[in-house]
Amino acid sequence: ALFEYAPAPESRAVVDIAPAYGLFIDGAFREAGSGTTFKTLSPATEEVLSEVAYADAADVDAAVRAARAAFPAWAALPGAERAKYLFRIARILQERSRELAVLETLDNGKPIRETRDADLPLVAAHFFYYAGWADKLNHAGYGPDPRPLGVAAQVIPWNFPLLMLAWKIAPALATGNAVVLKPAETTPLSALFFADVCRQAGLPGGVVNIVTGDGATGAELVAHPDVDKVAFTGSTAVGKEIARTVAGTRKKLTLELGGKGANIVFDDAPLDQAVEGIVNGIFFNQGQVCCAGSRLLVQESVRDELLDALKRRLATLRVGDPLDKNTDVGAINSAEQLARITELAEAGEAEGAERWSPPCELPPDGYWFAPTLFTNVTQAHRIAREEIFGPVLSVLTFRTPDEAVAKANNTPYGLSAGVWTEKGSRILRMANELRAGIVWANTFNKFDPASPFGGYKESGYGREGGRHGLEAYLNV
Ligand code: NAD
Repeated sequence: ALFEYAPAPESRAVVDIAPAYGLFIDGAFREAGSGTTFKTLSPATEEVLSEVAYADAADVDAAVRAARAAFPAWAALPGAERAKYLFRIARILQERSRELAVLETLDNGKPIRETRDADLPLVAAHFFYYAGWADKLNHAGYGPDPRPLGVAAQVIPWNFPLLMLAWKIAPALATGNAVVLKPAETTPLSALFFADVCRQAGLPGGVVNIVTGDGATGAELVAHPDVDKVAFTGSTAVGKEIARTVAGTRKKLTLELGGKGANIVFDDAPLDQAVEGIVNGIFFNQGQVCCAGSRLLVQESVRDELLDALKRRLATLRVGDPLDKNTDVGAINSAEQLARITELAEAGEAEGAERWSPPCELPPDGYWFAPTLFTNVTQAHRIAREEIFGPVLSVLTFRTPDEAVAKANNTPYGLSAGVWTEKGSRILRMANELRAGIVWANTFNKFDPASPFGGYKESGYGREGGRHGLEAYLNV
């Protein structure tokens, strides 16, 4: 064995992690040409989980060639045949959901309750949903016989590794494209287990290829001349770089980037329900969510009442072992991400905002950040403007609906927003005026594969999910 393992807690026994994994190219696992590997850790304990092949330009080229070779036969299959593979993948994902939930929790650090109740059910739902489209593309209003684009290069982040994979791979396969996907360097394992799911489903070799590596691997993939389509989810900075790489080529591009979502609470809102939505909005997945409700905009007349209730609720959150079913807040994904959150929180204090956290004891090893609330925040503060991507909520106030809209829209991002009010007319008005791709009303972080997801402004372009998600992979 390459590494020594800590004794496995009981829930860990459901997943068998090998000491090393190869790249998944043309239906089989293989070592990187250079033999180079990197380690993936559990962020909750810093225990090494496995060693994974590092793909360089030659490996990326092999994966793109495998996808190119597989594409014509895959695209020529009747939609009903492609659907059978997707339904099979969806069912295997359900059968293996316990194993995959534990794996994802180990590699990412998020609570098992979230991987079990949110990530994995949504992953399977996406494959079922797009399986249902595969034989109906002629009837979707695109005209007869819409065509796949070809080879799709897909690069995803670490915050929802398997779900972001599902958002990318399910619509690409349903429409007849072949894919090369690169997972994030801190969470490569679930994509490799997904490769095994593809094998189990009998998917033809080369239709799905997984290359593990870092940003340089992603850059090679995006720049590969025989790629027809690039789909990226990640930071706005990298998204812009990819847009520059792709400019002037034949490649189609969709980008799902960062956010700075506002949760807007009016004085007539059901406050208890709003508190639950605010907590879900910023502490789900430790706030490492592109559509997180990271700014709370509360109407002045209910500010104190809401903040009291919110603080009482935060004091009940359980932070700790992500494998414990009672845990609400797990580990931060990496030392780098923890450093970034810490830096921004310190900037918040330095700029004069008031910092508060409930009493909580953080585990000694691993990467942890206590749930944090900032009050007395102004729009000029960095914590009100920059994406923190952590369990940190910045509280601002407003008096009128116009002021709420102006403040909520005062950001380069435009991914999500939440509106809390009893008034239906106000919900509709806010939904029209907020420059955000998703507006939730009296709820937050609700996802459905039938619903398109994507951003305004610097949160990106294109939509994933729903019928709109098909268009990113079709010539119509
Ligand atoms: P990141 O941009 O650093 O990395 C994302 C992926 O891109 C990783 O796989 C990484 O290896 C790869 N990458 C890095 N540099 C690259 C380059 N030059 N060329 C090609 N690939 C490259 O982002 P992250 O830190 O992993 O993820 C956090 C960000 O993702 C946040 O900003 C968050 O808002 C965003 N995000 C957006 C959505 C959405 O749907 N809008 C969803 C999840 C996360």
